[in-house]
Amino acid sequence: MRKTSLFVPLAILMATGAFAQKKSKAAAPPVADTAKKAVPAAPSKPTVKDKVKSSKKHEGLFTLYQDTVTGSVQMYVKKDQLGKEFIYQSFSMGGPTALFLNQNMIRATFLFKIEKSFDKLEFKQQNTNFHYDGENAISKAANVDVSDAVMFAEKVAVEDSLGYLVAVDGLLLGDKLDPVKPVFPPTLPPGSVFNLGGYNPSKSKYGTVRSFPNNTDVLVELAYDNPMPLNGGGKDITDARYVRVKMQHSFIEVPNNDFRARRDDPRVGYFGSEVDDLSSISPTPYKDIINRWNLVKKDPAAAISEPVEPIVWWVENTTPVELREIVKEAGEKWNEAFEAAGFKNAVVMKIMPDNADWDPADIRYNVIRWVSSANPQYGAIGPSFTNPRTGQILGADITVEWRSGAGAPVQDDLFNGGLSSLAANLPWENPAAAIDPSQYTSKYPAFGNRHITTCALANELSMQYQAGVAAIATLDDDGSNGEKKTTAVRELHKQFLYYLILHEMGHTLGLNHNMKASQMLRPDQVHDQNITRKLGLQGSVMDYPSLNVSSDRSKQGDYYTTKAGPYDIWAIEYGYRPFRPEEEEEGLRKILSRSTEPNLTFGNDADDMRAPGKAIDPRVMVNDMSSDMVAYAEDRLKLVNTMMPKLKARFSQPNQSYAELRSRYYQLMNQRAQMVGAVSRYIGGVNVDRSYAGQNAAAKPFTPVSADYQKKAMALLNKYLYAPNAFSTDAALFPYLQMQRRGFNFFNGTEDVKPQTTVASLQMSTLAHILHPVTMSRINNSSLYGNSYSVADVMSDLVKGIFNEDLNGSVNLYRQNLQTEFVKASAAIVNSPVGYDNASKAAALSTLKKIKSMLAAASSPNEQTRAHRTNLNFLIEKALSVK
Ligand SMILES: [Zn+2]
Repeated sequence: MRKTSLFVPLAILMATGAFAQKKSKAAAPPVADTAKKAVPAAPSKPTVKDKVKSSKKHEGLFTLYQDTVTGSVQMYVKKDQLGKEFIYQSFSMGGPTALFLNQNMIRATFLFKIEKSFDKLEFKQQNTNFHYDGENAISKAANVDVSDAVMFAEKVAVEDSLGYLVAVDGLLLGDKLDPVKPVFPPTLPPGSVFNLGGYNPSKSKYGTVRSFPNNTDVLVELAYDNPMPLNGGGKDITDARYVRVKMQHSFIEVPNNDFRARRDDPRVGYFGSEVDDLSSISPTPYKDIINRWNLVKKDPAAAISEPVEPIVWWVENTTPVELREIVKEAGEKWNEAFEAAGFKNAVVMKIMPDNADWDPADIRYNVIRWVSSANPQYGAIGPSFTNPRTGQILGADITVEWRSGAGAPVQDDLFNGGLSSLAANLPWENPAAAIDPSQYTSKYPAFGNRHITTCALANELSMQYQAGVAAIATLDDDGSNGEKKTTAVRELHKQFLYYLILHEMGHTLGLNHNMKASQMLRPDQVHDQNITRKLGLQGSVMDYPSLNVSSDRSKQGDYYTTKAGPYDIWAIEYGYRPFRPEEEEEGLRKILSRSTEPNLTFGNDADDMRAPGKAIDPRVMVNDMSSDMVAYAEDRLKLVNTMMPKLKARFSQPNQSYAELRSRYYQLMNQRAQMVGAVSRYIGGVNVDRSYAGQNAAAKPFTPVSADYQKKAMALLNKYLYAPNAFSTDAALFPYLQMQRRGFNFFNGTEDVKPQTTVASLQMSTLAHILHPVTMSRINNSSLYGNSYSVADVMSDLVKGIFNEDLNGSVNLYRQNLQTEFVKASAAIVNSPVGYDNASKAAALSTLKKIKSMLAAASSPNEQTRAHRTNLNFLIEKALSVK
């Protein structure tokens, strides 16, 4: 009903407003005249009351009047609100998951002011990027070159002594505040991404309007039409031609308190804002601030005090009943960290009653929410929103995808790409693209935005969790009719959920990832619960750790850490310990002086090495564990090889298809991928230390990984990944790895198992890193400051691992692919016009010549091996002839 009428009244209102003003000017004769002549009484000016008589009033920070017939909204702006800063915050409340418009995604945050310009009100976004010291005369020129961003201007409909009434449909309905529709580069092929199409005002409308003393929230449903969609956008899109996106605009009063922004520091990982000090001549003119809650001691003199206002969390009533207490307990675990900062009961966890009459979307409540999406872009997220001027966190939500949280198996599409699609991503196929850092951000866009905390943890975690379930199911001895295994799986699930909540809640407290934290314990300590329950299994819960599963099942300790680690406790102290202003800098310096303690080590997403060629410190990595990753990985690879032969008996159940067996197989392949991936990063790795000069005399910012350890890593890859028999345990499973038919799903590709692709993906994921132009160049550069494992040594060890063992025998299909790809890579390095440095090219050329002479002396026992070697010779000849 409201569809078509929305903008009509707005147009009338604008016309009326303009008309009324003109008319009132004309009708206001000079005072002297009025006394003399009996002119007819001027029609009385419309009042606010007249203008809102058919509207419902929502009184609050900004009082809104919504017309009960048309739905149109007018805002009453008080005169004393002009020129004041307010916070704007948008939330997506449900829309295409393909565009990250999932429920409760915290989106744009900025400060704005409302100013009056002649007969209009202007809504202006503020720029918070700069700081000027008021004592410095240059501050008189503050922000002179900063452009005004006026989002919206509208004629005042009517004014009274206290304020102005203005129509705001043009501000709220549409994308003036938050551009919902993403801007895609024009170079993207049509249909490659889901496209909303054009905004359709006639089908857009208001949802709930709420106004409270400190915030005003307006829910809107924005309609988009795309008459010719080339991309269906997924199963959650009912019809790609017509999509309505639910959004919430929140206008929030800037808190009036004595909260002081706390400075950021490179040694500890908080989300925050970068602020440039344009009145400083320091080499680091940064006034960067961190995001944190406003915790104030009830009793400032006490060493430990309750806060005046704790951080209150509600466990939403959508949470599976049996998990509610676990979630509550996990959240309360953060209180240990706050105690070190001087606060007792800083975090209060409550369970939302099933009959609660409040809306979890109400921004005054921090809620741990659950959803079950068709196409989740994350497993759980923990975003918060802040006052951009000070970093004060004003609210937060955690959303857990039910399937991840409940431990449902993740789809196993990790290794199903063909060799050709794999090749397109190998750095030797396109070295220029490989060294372009924008490749990393386009692969991991979630980490580019410092205000939005997107976290892929839960997906990784559930894949790992499933591997743990498989380990218990296949290997644990159970004389108790399955009871022992059930208990073990329940404990594993509890630890998994604990970890998920601890981690996401850490984000809402302001912490970003610490991908270095799983380095804390040695492999012989990780299953010792005397250590892990007291200190933690990791320095921080903000890492993406490997599942901690022991190959010796009798020694199994904790699968996940169940408490805030030493880094978390220290980081919370940095962010939250209260100081008097004059003591703050010294106090922070004292806390930071501990950053050299091994348990407090830190490195975030920008430092982690998950993508080939990205970053430099192998200890900052996802899906790893312990301070000796080569030893830890060997144990896991052995575990996988022990599990493989037992998988079929355990996971092919009567009266079910082989879909579960197939999914279990890929979960174990994923374990292998994570182990060899983490180990490969040590080759050419450089350890980073961010301590400041004078903190630790022995510390240097850059220390190459020792040649011994690099060689150990290489030996592990040669043995468990490149060797001819590395995958011999898998063969018996191949005839059974069948997907379940559903409709016509095999139209997209044939259903037969493709082990050579799976194995090649795994092998190439490591070579893609070792032979990456950035890695090879670093191996050479670091030889100038301590690295003694040269590119020629690296290539020579790869040749040994990839060629020696079957030189005088039959070369199996895995090895044919591996040898061919290695030769292609070396040839590409030799002939690469860009990307590879001279020493790398020399090493690759020498490698090709060496392989050529090895092949000349090799004997081929069968036709296939002969054909393979003929092809290698051809590739080498071709590469050498270009030279
Ligand atoms: Zn995270």
